[in-house]
Order: sequence, then structure tokens, then C-alpha cells
Amino acid sequence: MTLEATDVSHGYGNETVFDGVSLSVSTGEVVAIIGPSGVGKSTLLRLLALFDAPDRGTISYDGEDVWRQPEGRRLEHRRRIGMVFQDASLFDASVRRNAAYGLRVRQSWPERIRHGFAQLVGEQNGTGDAVEALETVGLADKVDQDADSLSGGEAQRVAFARALAYDPEILLLDEPTSDLDPRNTAVIEDAVLQARDRGIGVVVATHDMHQARRVADRTAVLLGDEILEVDRTERVFDDP
Ligand code: ADP
Ligand code: ADP
Repeated sequence: MTLEATDVSHGYGNETVFDGVSLSVSTGEVVAIIGPSGVGKSTLLRLLALFDAPDRGTISYDGEDVWRQPEGRRLEHRRRIGMVFQDASLFDASVRRNAAYGLRVRQSWPERIRHGFAQLVGEQNGTGDAVEALETVGLADKVDQDADSLSGGEAQRVAFARALAYDPEILLLDEPTSDLDPRNTAVIEDAVLQARDRGIGVVVATHDMHQARRVADRTAVLLGDEILEVDRTERVFDDP
């Protein structure tokens, strides 16, 4: 499976964020998008997540131009893509319920997704995959704890577990470790590599080139309003 942005341009109002950017991610690889803050990494992730349509260019999933599909088909594609936002945005419930949120969204798609939230978080069973995902980020012993009681790093790990439990083909991570200490960072980076080894395609937006070196098979450098380079990570960082 390949998710691909081809020659996309996007902006807000009259401001263009980037112009003519192309990037793909396939299952079983990690692709980093690096670039300074404000350059458009989140914007590109939102396009890849099928949240927003690009102003120009195409986003395709397995060769299908998703914005030329009927909405139902596009939602099917979207369901195969998980995204972790920069802030964990956990809700006030147990760690288990937070991690299982995506699972329930998935089970109830599409009829209930808009209005079934309370119902969904009230449900108790069917959380097996959520616990497994919590194990991946080393939080299996905290399943019954209140999400409010977690540290920032643990909360990010739960957000990651929630995306994993959703069983995506493609996982998009927006600055997944930006405020985290080295220990929490290492847990998340390790979980990224485990996800890749299980066949998930991962895109990590980061301003940290060391992170790209540690986890990414390929790296895209976003600078100005274009992608400067996309290549094997070691070649991107190899000074000629
Ligand atoms: P990055 O993730 O690399 O920090 P963003 O994609 O968040 O960059 O932002 C790129 C540019 O687009 C910035 O100048 C930002 O201020 C602007 N921007 C992002 N989101 C919006 C929005 N919803 N409305 C208007 N401008 C936005
Ligand atoms: P809507 O977009 O119609 O508000 P949502 O299901 O997106 O419906 O959101 C309903 C409520 O659930 C909101 O208060 C939102 O903050 C919260 N919520 C949505 N998604 C998540 C999530 N992944 N994790 C935690 N809370 C969420």
C-alpha cells in the first residue's frame, strides 16, 4: 500500500505554505519530514491524513486519487490512516478507554462516529488490542489509571497506543516527542520501529534531524515552500 502526495500545493487564505511538493510512504517503511517550525509539516500531514484537500495536486491511496472518489470511498481510505497530533489530547477517562477510543470509532464507523462518543467511551469490552498497544509503549500496568494522572510523556505514549490500536496501514506522527525527555522519546521511537516491522507505513514530522536519523528509512527535507530533497536518510545526511 502506498499513500502518495503528488505535486501538491496548499495554503491558508492567500498565503501559500508550499508549492509542488511530492512525497510517498509505503507500508513497512518510516519516512521523516524534517524542517523548521512553521514550514508546513503539519499542513502536509493533514493532507496525507485526508483531513484537507490540497489546493492543487493529488493525494492517492494505492493509486486511487482520493479526492476524486465519492466521500464514502474517501472515508474508507481515511480509516486506514492513523494520526497522532502534537498534543496528546486525552480525555478524562481511564488509560484503557483512551487507548481504545480509535477501536470503537472503527467498529462503529460510519453511522455513529459523529454522535456516538459518549456511548463509545462508556463501553467496556473489546479493548484487547488497546491493551496490546499499551504494552508496546510500556504502559500495560497503567490501563486502569486515570489519564489525568499521567505525565506528559506517558500521555503522548497513550496517544500513540490509541493510534496503534486503530490498526492503521499508515501512521502519521506530528512531532511525537517534541516535549519529551530522552526516556519517553526512546520508548516512542522504539514503538515506531516496531510498528514498521509489523508492516505499518509511518510518517514522522520532526524538527529534530537526529530523530530522523534514528528512525527513518527515508527523509524529506521541507524548506521554504518546497521539498528540498527526499532520499534514503543516510544519503540526506551524508555530507558530500
Ligand atoms: P509546521 O508543522 O512545520 O510547524 P504548519 O503546517 O503548522 O508548520 O504551519 C505552516 C504555516 O501555515 C505557518 O505559517 C502557520 O502559521 C500556517 N498555518 C497553519 N495552520 C493554519 C491555519 N489553520 N490557518 C492559517 N494559517 C495556518
Ligand atoms: P465532533 O467533531 O462532531 O465534535 P468528535 O467525535 O470529533 O465529534 O468529538 C466529540 C468529542 O470527543 C469532542 O469533545 C472531542 O474533543 C472529543 N474527541 C474526539 N476525538 C478524540 C480523541 N481521539 N481523543 C480524545 N477525545 C476526542
